[in-house]
Amino acid sequence: MADNGDEPILLSAPDVGELEQEYVLRAMQSGWVAPAGPDLNAFEAEVAARLGVSHAVGLSSGTAALHLALVSWGVGPGDVVPVSTFTFAATVNAIRYVGAEPFFVDCDEETGNMSAPLLEQAIAQLCAEGRSVPVVVPVDMLGKCVDYTAIEKIAREAGARLLCDAAEAFGAAWQGIPAGSFGDASVLSFNGNKIMTTSGGGMLLTNDGELAAHVRKLSTQARERAVHYEHTEVGYNYRLSNILAALGRAQLRRLDEMIGRRREWRRRYAELFADQPGVRILGGIDDAEDNCWLTAIVVDPAISSWSANELNAKLTEAHIETRPVWKPMHMQPISQGLQGVIDGTSERLFDHGLTLPSGSAMTDEQFGRVLKEIAKVIGR
Ligand SMILES: *Cc1c(COP(=O)(O)O)cnc(C)c1O
Repeated sequence: MADNGDEPILLSAPDVGELEQEYVLRAMQSGWVAPAGPDLNAFEAEVAARLGVSHAVGLSSGTAALHLALVSWGVGPGDVVPVSTFTFAATVNAIRYVGAEPFFVDCDEETGNMSAPLLEQAIAQLCAEGRSVPVVVPVDMLGKCVDYTAIEKIAREAGARLLCDAAEAFGAAWQGIPAGSFGDASVLSFNGNKIMTTSGGGMLLTNDGELAAHVRKLSTQARERAVHYEHTEVGYNYRLSNILAALGRAQLRRLDEMIGRRREWRRRYAELFADQPGVRILGGIDDAEDNCWLTAIVVDPAISSWSANELNAKLTEAHIETRPVWKPMHMQPISQGLQGVIDGTSERLFDHGLTLPSGSAMTDEQFGRVLKEIAKVIGR
């Protein structure tokens, strides 16, 4: 598509084309226009194979996947769940759906991911108070994996399950092991702005066959095996549709190419900002295993001659979408009265961070325009 100079450039637009059309059309022609069918089964099998996980359950969203894992484990009122404060609301909402209490854990300066020392502190404090901590929920921030070596060990020692929110991290890895395969269960999102999309959708990944079977049952209104509609537990309507799974299968075939494209933007942003004092790429020192879903910069206003807010305003004027990084959940009005172990890191990153256009559908011309507009602000 030609770039006419003021067409908006989005942060992360969906990247779909002919292959996706072909897959969706074929699914429709097959007659499986339902939350069941061969594309759904194949999509689950393909994602599970890619991640080296035994079970995958396709769901209507990443949020639904988080919710059903918690429901299946019986997490509920009276339980407290340590969770990254530096995340999208969905992570924390799922904990609240089941009536448990989120307990916010602040992050590492370098990556924005849950701090292992602070998680340790959180668990020690909660145990001292005699609280029940059934599960810990870390988040792979903007497509960079959490330090799973440290976080898994802390959760295991506390006797807590690990539910990994890898919604942003499909295609990323930690020490060679893919995001989405860690913990007792992991969650992916295929929302419209994620690294690959089914327009809306998500998946639960686990090596626990019982959990997978239970989540699959819960997601289809918890029907018992009977000819009539028989129910012994409360169910949900959370299953991914076969048509959307077909879209997902086409996207999956292109995933590595799409990651390559985002990685290229990351490399060029890093180059652009390399000689800018006080500016760094969030999580960027060692990004070989990141999926580079979104590139975010962190600007130290004491050193830099411009601020993240100034850059944000200028790019917005030029119809280029940028956004501050996640507003920490402990700062949100909906979190009033909730506790956590907060050391100020995520607040600082929120104040001085900015995510930049990173989508794989962005053309070279569009990216050139983004660089040109940034150059105006940073004086290059
Ligand atoms: C997108 C996202 C989710 C939710 O996924 P949906 O598919 O939109 O429900 C959950 N957690 C994080 C960290 C996300 O970025």
